[in-house]
Amino acid sequence: MGKTYIFGHKNPDTDSIVSSIVMTNFEKKLGNTDAVACRLGAINKETEYVLNYVGIEAPELIEDVADGEEIIIVDTANPSELIPNLSNVKIKKIVDHHQVLLNTSYPVFYRAEPVGCTETIMYKLYNEYNIEIDKKIATLMLSAIISDTLLFKSPTCTETDIKAVKELSKIAELDYETYGMDMLKAGTDLSSFTIEQILSLDAKAITLKDKKSVIAQVNTASIPDVMKMKSELESGMNKMIEEQGLDLFMFLITDIVNSNSQVVALGNSASIVEKAYGVKLENNTALLKGVVSRKKQVVPIMTENA
Ligand code: MG
Ligand code: MG
Ligand code: MG
Repeated sequence: MGKTYIFGHKNPDTDSIVSSIVMTNFEKKLGNTDAVACRLGAINKETEYVLNYVGIEAPELIEDVADGEEIIIVDTANPSELIPNLSNVKIKKIVDHHQVLLNTSYPVFYRAEPVGCTETIMYKLYNEYNIEIDKKIATLMLSAIISDTLLFKSPTCTETDIKAVKELSKIAELDYETYGMDMLKAGTDLSSFTIEQILSLDAKAITLKDKKSVIAQVNTASIPDVMKMKSELESGMNKMIEEQGLDLFMFLITDIVNSNSQVVALGNSASIVEKAYGVKLENNTALLKGVVSRKKQVVPIMTENA
């Protein structure tokens, strides 16, 4: 039997990386010994913190998968965030917590729930299949849930996510609040990245009605610290707007302590931001109070106003 390649979305976040590792563990427990954890991009600082803490290596970096091979997709169901050869591979399973944007011409194990994180669903699957969760897997799972929910502060967070973290923290034997804040703070360190890397660390290409857009996000404990790079960030954004023919580039600088985002918006359609949030962009920027979730508080309202 061939391998099963398991991966999440491009520009991987902690959930995508953790989910590829955890799903690989799950598959192996089910007897699929040829499962391989993979990733479609570089590891960010937050994920690096998690992997170091647990003491495991990053999944294998791949760009594509050959015709006919088997894959499992986690933390996305959006073809544009996956491999180029998606239509010629066999999708075995999908486990995700986003909008369903993927069709297959054959039956597939598809588990999607509107919870804050893929790992909350994986936690349920382990329980449903009576598979034991060891300390490392528990630490990985709760890290992803804390990352995606910003320690429960994101409006995407559900009671199920909170319950999962509380139960997992007993297996992981750690204080999830202290650990979670340290992990989120590790992710705010942008010092080793170039401007281009900062703009693409957590960037999603999204078409808002007919407006070709990129919505990128970074976490910070200090908005002014990131805003020191504003002019360099704007040059980088303008370059990408030109190269990719974008109508809009939105860069969200999310304050994980106070739960606000400073937005820098450029492109011919930047005024959608003003309309959507009732703010005035001054020097291309505005504070979006209480906005932390791209999925819940940005994409829907921006689409509506596009
Ligand atoms: Mg993700
Ligand atoms: Mg996720
Ligand atoms: Mg995210």
